[in-house]
This record gives sequence, structure tokens and C-alpha cells, in this order.
Amino acid sequence: MAQIRFDALKTVLSRKPLVTERPLKKTSEYFGENVFSRNKMQEYLSAEAYSEVINAIDKGTKINRKMADQIASGMKFWAIEKGATHYTHWFHPLNGASAEKHDAFFEPSENGGVIENFHGKLLVQQEPDASSFPSGGIRNTFEARGYTAWDPTSPAFLIDKTLCIPTIFVSYTGEALDYKTPLLKSLAALDESAVAVCNLFDKNVTKVYATLGIEQEYFLVDEALFQARPDLVLTGRTLIGHASAKDQQLEDHYFGVIPDRIHAFMKDYEYEALRLGIPIKTRHNEVAPSQFECAPVFEEANLAVDHNQLLMILMEKIAKRHNLRVLFNEKPYKGINGSGKHNNWSLMTDSGRNLLSPGKTPKNNLQFLAFLINTIKAVHEHADLLRASIVSAGNEHRLGASEAPPSIMSVFIGEKLAEILGEIEKRVTSKKMSPDEKTEIKLDIGKIPPILLDNTDRNRTSPFAFTGNRFEFRAVGSGANCAAPMIALNTAVAGQLRTFMKDIQSLTRKKVKKDEAIFQVLRKYIVESKNIIFDGNGYGDEWIKEAARRGLTNIKSAPDALNAFLTPASKELFSSTGVFNDRELEARYEIRLEIYIKKIQIEARVLGDLVKNHIIPIAFRYQNLLIENVRGMKEIIDGKDFMASTKTQIYTIKEISEHVNKIDDMVDRMIEKRKNANLTDDIRKKVKMYSDDIKPFFDEIRYHVDKLELITDDEMWPLPKYRELLFNK
Ligand code: ADP
Ligand code: MG
Repeated sequence: MAQIRFDALKTVLSRKPLVTERPLKKTSEYFGENVFSRNKMQEYLSAEAYSEVINAIDKGTKINRKMADQIASGMKFWAIEKGATHYTHWFHPLNGASAEKHDAFFEPSENGGVIENFHGKLLVQQEPDASSFPSGGIRNTFEARGYTAWDPTSPAFLIDKTLCIPTIFVSYTGEALDYKTPLLKSLAALDESAVAVCNLFDKNVTKVYATLGIEQEYFLVDEALFQARPDLVLTGRTLIGHASAKDQQLEDHYFGVIPDRIHAFMKDYEYEALRLGIPIKTRHNEVAPSQFECAPVFEEANLAVDHNQLLMILMEKIAKRHNLRVLFNEKPYKGINGSGKHNNWSLMTDSGRNLLSPGKTPKNNLQFLAFLINTIKAVHEHADLLRASIVSAGNEHRLGASEAPPSIMSVFIGEKLAEILGEIEKRVTSKKMSPDEKTEIKLDIGKIPPILLDNTDRNRTSPFAFTGNRFEFRAVGSGANCAAPMIALNTAVAGQLRTFMKDIQSLTRKKVKKDEAIFQVLRKYIVESKNIIFDGNGYGDEWIKEAARRGLTNIKSAPDALNAFLTPASKELFSSTGVFNDRELEARYEIRLEIYIKKIQIEARVLGDLVKNHIIPIAFRYQNLLIENVRGMKEIIDGKDFMASTKTQIYTIKEISEHVNKIDDMVDRMIEKRKNANLTDDIRKKVKMYSDDIKPFFDEIRYHVDKLELITDDEMWPLPKYRELLFNK
């Protein structure tokens, strides 16, 4: 066996679970201990400063400079008491990672020593050198000024003796350069329009939050095997590798017993996550071998997004401690399931009422239906935008690959709700409703069970499924920053709820009673958007045909899907809600294209290198061995017997040459195409070339490499194989 592969396997087999001894404590004793939470604030801030922060969190008020100084001082005191030496503004630039620039608390003092310093100005605003974060042309690199500004709605936390302060990141001219700024704006727009709709039913509602619970899927692989695979190291996925004889056919991994080593890792990162206030609750094996899932309890959406980013960072860090690597790539292995990130989304009022959960009275149920139907309508109107929001080079391998929701956006609502919507469609008409008709429809609505959760059938093939008291956006990729799909969803629903209010008002102005106006508008929406409702098997071929008949779009390629950001409808939606101006939208579009190009470019380079420097030389070495064998045979056997005894060898020698020639030729052609693509400055042309001319080589090259893997001496094969990557824990 090739030495590198042999060493890696030997290392894996010698590993024992790393058991971390910890004092026995109840979760409640350490939950959130590394967070500057409301409780901590109360303890470390003056009453005045505390109420200033709370108002900023709950009502969005501004914090004045004097108070900021006090808050900074309290925060510093808490952090230093817990051993912190540095602080950083923590933000989410558009390359999908999280960024930090650490500064020490200390500053030189007059007497030549140092003092610990951190004041309001440093808390509230910073100016990191931002020239190398993607900005899609908004921030002139020459100017290179980006500002980070404190987001008090997400509490500061401590990690590795560093105080991390969640911030937004904007350009000198005020345009967003990050994910958080537009996310907060989308949440504000949603709050405003959802409160208006709630007030149709209940005047007491003054704030509506989006809630988000994220189920995170991921793969684990042993560190030694990972390091022996250049493709995993550099791209996060295997670019070559033949399927293992056994993978997920037996379905014996899902919900199976968690292996000891993995369990030790899970306990470790969960402990750290809980200390950071991330309410992680669920863990289990997923469908594919070596695939797992975890899920915290839902939280306010902005906090949930921050927590998911933080969780991913923690998992990567702690996995290394256990000699494991976490793969968040959407499709690390060909032929078995990829990983997604299910975004469970709902709306909640300030009094804690879930707006996507039916109530006990017809009035509550009507409110529930209003939010349900408006959300369906929003998805219908902005399906392509939602599709665009989940695009990535990795997710492209997953969507529509008969294991993940397809590239067609549809909404699952279940039989019970479909029936109720059908009743509304049937009974409500545009003429004035008689008292009897009103009673009937109210009776229908009264039939919605107060707890739908147990009454909702589950559909695991829908990209956007109603699951009893929330929607689950299931097409999001496992490596994504959830802010992107949430910005699209929040904004689409915010825009739709505004339209709803306008439609109601135009009827009430014509003296139509409020209840009746609501019924009529909802009926209109049901009719207009029902073709996006689909309760059948979303993975089947039938649905692809049916969706085409219904006129739903099925955009497979990433670059094509991204165009939805720039349609007049998207521009209008984002500018009218104040979430993005056109310039920001165009910048984001460009950044997504750029990232896509770079990912494909790196994969193409790695594949070329693997093939030329790792695979082909090994193929030749094995071929030489066979040639040697044939030569030897010739010395000892002659005539007809010789032909018969060397049949397999000769055949294999030729087979190897055929595959090698094909591979080598394709790699050369791929490199040519890449050079060609790199000549153009037109990013739209370039992305098409990468997607249409370069990417298709990947599968073809892989096909022949995987064939070589099957015929080459196992002892020589240099890369850990699928069975080793997937079944060694
Ligand atoms: P499943 O039933 O899909 O396997 P879980 O029961 O593990 O999933 O829950 C999935 C996620 O949905 C969890 O994070 C949970 O907190 C979240 N969730 C539950 N209710 C809501 C809600 N009202 N809003 C947002 N997320 C919610
Ligand atoms: Mg789920």
C-alpha cells in the first residue's frame, strides 16, 4: 500500500476516543457562562446603562456616547475578570467566513507600564483595514475603509480569552459589506409589516420577531485520512474516488448508535456551545455513513444566525482536538447523501404567540391563515429569489440530485390545510357574503385543530415545508451562512404583508367589512399562488414534468439561478423594504459569481494536480509491473500457452493506457478552457465559461480515474478510498 495511505490508516486504527474529564455539573450551571447576557449586564452595568442597552435591543433606540463608555467599561470588567486579554469586533463578511481582528485591552500608560483600556468608542465602532474582503466594487480598494459597528441585539461572548463583539460591517459610504446588516434590515421590515397585520386582529401587538431553528448536517472524517487527500484539504470535497461496495444502501446509519469517538467529540463541542449560550439540544446520525446532525432550540433569527456561525467555528476547532475534521461542504462524497441545513422559520409576537400556529378561536385561526397564506404567496412571487439565495458551488451538486430538494421551489402544507384552503376558495366569493356564509366559513376555520403539529403529515422531499407550527426551508446548504436565505425570506414576506395591508385597505375603503375583506384577499392569494403548493414526492421525475406544466421554474445551474437577484421584481422588493439598494444588490450578485468562479477554479486546479501527479504515475507503475510480468512469462512459457496465460495482463495494460490517455487529454483541454476563461474581464461571461465549459470535465475525468482505482493494485493506490474515509471511526 502506498506509504502515505498506509501510515494514515495505521494512525486511525491506533486512535482511542479522547475522553475529556469534566466536573459533574448540571447544564443550567454553565449554560451561557461565557456570554455577556442580560443577567450579566444587570450585574455589571448601572441601572441607567442597562436600560439603555435593553431599549436598544427591544426598541432599536440609539445608544449615546456617554452610555456606550459605561457599557464598554462594564463589559471589559466582566471579560477581564474571566481572564480575557483581547477583544475583537466579530463580523460576517461576504466570503462566507467570520472575521476577527484581535486587539489587546492594554495600552501603554504614562509611567511606562500598561493599563487595561476599552472605552465606548472602541465598543461602538472600529475601522479594520478592509481592503481584502469582497465588496463587489462598492468599496474602492484604494479607499479601503470599512467600518464595523456594534449590534447590541446579539450579546458579546468570550472565546479563547478574547471578548468577541458581534458587529455589522459597512463601507465608508454606508453600504452593507456583510450579511448581518441586511439581515437586521430585513427583520425590521418584517417586524413593521407583521405588526400591522397582527393589529387587524389584536391591537396589543407591538413587535414581531422572526424565529429560527437550524438543523445542521455535517460529515466527520479522521484527520490522518483527511490529510492524505489533497482534494479534501483544499476543496472540502472528494473530487475523485470510487463508491464503496457498501455505503448507505442498508440505511443502517440513520439514528444508529453513535460511535464512541464521535460521541466524545459531540459532548465536547456541545459543552463549549452551551457555555456560549447556544441552546444545542439534538444530535443524531444522519443517512450517510459518517454523517451527523445537530440542532439547537430555535431563537430570535439574528441570534440564531450568529449562533450557527459560531457553532460551525466551534465544531471545526474541537474536531481537531479529537483528530477529526468536520466537513460542511454540501457534497463531500459522490453517490451518497450530501449535507443541508434546515432553516425552521416562524414569526412570534412580543407576547410570545407563534403566528404560524393555529389558536383556539376562529379569530386566532384567521390570523394564522393570514400569515400562512401570505407566506405561501411570498414564496410564489419570489421563488426564484429564494432559489438564488441558497446558491453555492457546493449546493449545486446537492439540489435535484434525488436526495435533496430539487431546484424547483414548491411549498408543502399537508392534507388538512390543503382542505381548509380549498374550502375558502370554494365558499368565499367576491360578492357580499351572507351571514350564513360567514358562519359556515367560520365553522370551517374553527375545524383547524389547535395543535397542528401532530396532525401535519411530514414530507421530507419538499424544499419549503409547513411542519405544524413553522416553515422549514430545507434546501439551504450545510456550509451556508443562513443569513442569506433568511434575508430573502424575511424580505419577501415583509413585502407581501405590506401588499396584503394595501389590498385590505382598498376593500375597506369601499365599505367592505374587515373580516370579509380579509377572506376575499386571502381567497385571491390562494387562487394566485396555489400552483406552488405540492404535497407529492419532490424527488421524483413526475414532479419535474408536473412543475413544468405548472410553469414553475427549475433552474439547475448556479450562475443562472443567481440572475434572480437582479430582476425588476427583486430590485423593487429590496429597495421598497429598505433592505438593499440596487448598488448593494448588484455588488452581492457579483460577489456570488466571483466566489463561484474561484471555487470551480480551485477544484479544477486540484483535480489537474491529482490526476497528473498522483494518479497517472501510479497507473504507469502498475502497468510496468504487468509489463514486467508479461516479459517474464515469455521467458518461461511459449506459443499458444503464452497468449492464454497473459490475456488478463495484456488486457489490463491496454485498459490502463486507454483511461490514462483519456484522462490526460481531458485535463489538458480543461486547462486550455481555464486559460481561455481567465482572459475575459466580463464576469458574467467568465462564470458561464466556468460553469458550462470547465465544470463538465470534472465528472468525465472522474469516471476514468475511478475506473483506474478499480483495476490498480490496492497496495499502490495513493489516496484513502471511500470505504476507509467513510467507515473508519
Ligand atoms: P424535526 O422534527 O424536523 O426532525 P426538530 O424537532 O429537531 O426537527 O426541530 C427542528 C428545529 O425546529 C429545532 O431547532 C426547533 O427548535 C425548531 N422549531 C420549533 N418550533 C419553532 C418555531 N416556532 N420557530 C422556529 N423554529 C422552530
Ligand atoms: Mg426538520
